[in-house]
Amino acid sequence: MSRDAENDLNQAYILMRTHYGHLHWWPGETPFEVCVGAVLTQNTSWTNVERAIANLKAARVLNPRRLFALPEAELAELIHPSGYHNVKARRLRAFLSVLIEQFDGELSRLFAGATASVRQRLLAINGIGPETADCLLLYAGGHASFVIDAYTKRIFSRHHWCQESVAYEELKRRCEASLPRANAAELLDYWQDYHAQLVNIGKDYCRKRAPDCASCPLNVLPHAAGPLPA
Ligand code: SF4
Repeated sequence: MSRDAENDLNQAYILMRTHYGHLHWWPGETPFEVCVGAVLTQNTSWTNVERAIANLKAARVLNPRRLFALPEAELAELIHPSGYHNVKARRLRAFLSVLIEQFDGELSRLFAGATASVRQRLLAINGIGPETADCLLLYAGGHASFVIDAYTKRIFSRHHWCQESVAYEELKRRCEASLPRANAAELLDYWQDYHAQLVNIGKDYCRKRAPDCASCPLNVLPHAAGPLPA
């Protein structure tokens, strides 16, 4: 990434943070709830995830051992509001099986170690791709691992900081190199809030069609040449 783009990326955060304030992501009362939410949020809206998590809380099964003890069909029924419930029940059980059988049900043990090796550990679990692994690391594991999602690619490509077709790992590497902080605690907070801010911008302004640039706090930054989708 050029020095100008790096400056723009840091400037983008200042603009978003000024607009929204600190967002204190990820929504979830415990790190385990964050993990469950990160698996359930694949391909659905957060409102649907909230309904599924509310079902798990009402059934008093939102802890690793109780959730793993549920038959898969029962788990699928409880998380039905999140969509793709059978697939997500399988994915949750794959995560829980590793957590319980290899790490004694302790997230602190699952997340122990260097970020790169914990990431490989998570990516080896069936149904955990790079975006979910990075959400788990960043918001539940206390590891600074920048999350890339469709909003990141859309916003960054519309400001010509990358191509929308950029590979996940390539954009992640560039963001991590361009968004430093003085120490580990500040870096974790910065990357947690940076991703949260991008999600808000993507939802509120930088929609796939008809982006609302006129109202968007990022409209002072340089845009890619050519018209945006009407
Ligand atoms: S809505 Fe417009 S100004 Fe805002 S991030 Fe998207 S392209 Fe940029």
